[in-house]
Amino acid sequence: MKRKLFIGGEWVEGREYSQLSAPHSGEVIAEIPQADQADIDRAISAAQEAHTTMRNTPAHQRATLLASISNLIAERSEEAARLIALEAGKPIRTARGEVARTVQTYRFAAEEAKRIQGETLPLDAAPGGEGRVAYTVREPLGVVAAITPFNFPMNLVAHKVGPALAAGNTVVLKPASQTPLSAYLLAEIAQEAGLPAGALNVVTGSGRVIGDALVTDPRIKAITFTGSPQVGIGIRNRAGLKRVTLELGSNSAVIVDRDVDLGEVVPRCVFGAFSYSGQVCISVQRIYVAAAMFESFVDAFLTETRKLRGGDPLAEETDYAAMIHPGETERTVEWIREAEQKGARILCGGSVEGRVLPPTVLTNVPADARISCQEVFGPVVMINKVESVEEGIRHVNNSNYGLQAGVYTNDVRTALDAAEQLHVGGVMINDIPTFRVDHMPYGGVKESGFGREGIKYAIEELTELKLVVFKR
Ligand code: NAP
Repeated sequence: MKRKLFIGGEWVEGREYSQLSAPHSGEVIAEIPQADQADIDRAISAAQEAHTTMRNTPAHQRATLLASISNLIAERSEEAARLIALEAGKPIRTARGEVARTVQTYRFAAEEAKRIQGETLPLDAAPGGEGRVAYTVREPLGVVAAITPFNFPMNLVAHKVGPALAAGNTVVLKPASQTPLSAYLLAEIAQEAGLPAGALNVVTGSGRVIGDALVTDPRIKAITFTGSPQVGIGIRNRAGLKRVTLELGSNSAVIVDRDVDLGEVVPRCVFGAFSYSGQVCISVQRIYVAAAMFESFVDAFLTETRKLRGGDPLAEETDYAAMIHPGETERTVEWIREAEQKGARILCGGSVEGRVLPPTVLTNVPADARISCQEVFGPVVMINKVESVEEGIRHVNNSNYGLQAGVYTNDVRTALDAAEQLHVGGVMINDIPTFRVDHMPYGGVKESGFGREGIKYAIEELTELKLVVFKR
């Protein structure tokens, strides 16, 4: 089916189209308009015009609009989940989980729209400040460009569109080329919810071709990007003085101390490693297990992993399917081979079956193998033995990335030490790094990016602090 761009509240034909294929079956599922420079220009103009309306829309109305978007997604949740399963190859049960979270993310945005506030300042604390009343307000920035990845095509869009609209900004959304359908569904829903024309525009097409037009246009005041470090760093370099939020990749790790309950820990780690075939920015990629537990941990991990079933993402029983693109599968296999040559042992998986790379478990992986030191973003996990949690912390910190990390321990001092010493954006004690709920501050250090999402924190990134001083 031929789709249209969504610009200024209208559905607009593209001048060029490209075919969208389902990652798992390879079948063509839609024809997607490829926006050109003129389309981007129109979308930015529409967003700029709508900004006056949005910034004058009272907070309670912005909240109502976002609540309606949330309700409409809830009403169409099965349709949305099937769309995600189809375009992203995400197993349907996982896709339903994403849609449920998307409903919550817009609900949080609706709630936070009512709580955007400044503070009063005691200016008389400074000599010469007497006789004045001062306060701060948070104002919307204007037009926000939202550039999003394929892996959570609805909820990561929600993490940008929700807070941007809550604060009274307008948005030009450029979804990942592989996942435009869920973005069009959002546009439909936003229109039905009564969002002013131009407040949300959806332009599809290759990021490499149209990305620059968004990133360098002076009418765009902020770029909120989630995706790979390579693209994110390029955007930052070209963005000039625009506000930039970067949510980038990671090689997230979990440390398992001695004496923890493997019955609880192992299934959680398997879930963290292989959910959506590891194509999750906080996927468990590295596991460091205390020597005393190592053998039993690995045995239990393999038993649990072997329960996972591969197949069609739309089938109820499926736990894993093909990765997003055959090229990505090839790359992942190449990294597995490299680790093997460097001395790693493959305990399960490791070779492609049909289009699918099954869950792959390696041990004894050297720190310089790409499986360890770069972001795999595939169904691969390494389990290495460590003598202590301290050694585990050194390995976790020996990374270019720092998004989230997990530590399982029963010792409160070990937990506090780990919380202090891990150089990441979020530390999960007694859980995997993959834990996220949608109102918590979320983001990374080092090459994992900067700025925070989680609605309240994203609103801070997408507003300007203004000071007002009254002299009596
Ligand atoms: P990607 O290749 O970096 O693409 C992300 C977005 O950027 C897509 O919309 C892409 O468009 C666009 N893009 C590509 N080149 C561009 C350019 N030169 N200028 C402007 N935009 C450009 O990432 P992905 O493969 O979709 O997603 C996987 C990555 O996202 C992983 O690294 C993962 O860790 C990261 N991620 C991070 C988080 C987080 O919250 N920290 C969450 C999820 C994912 P096209 O699709 O058209 O190329």
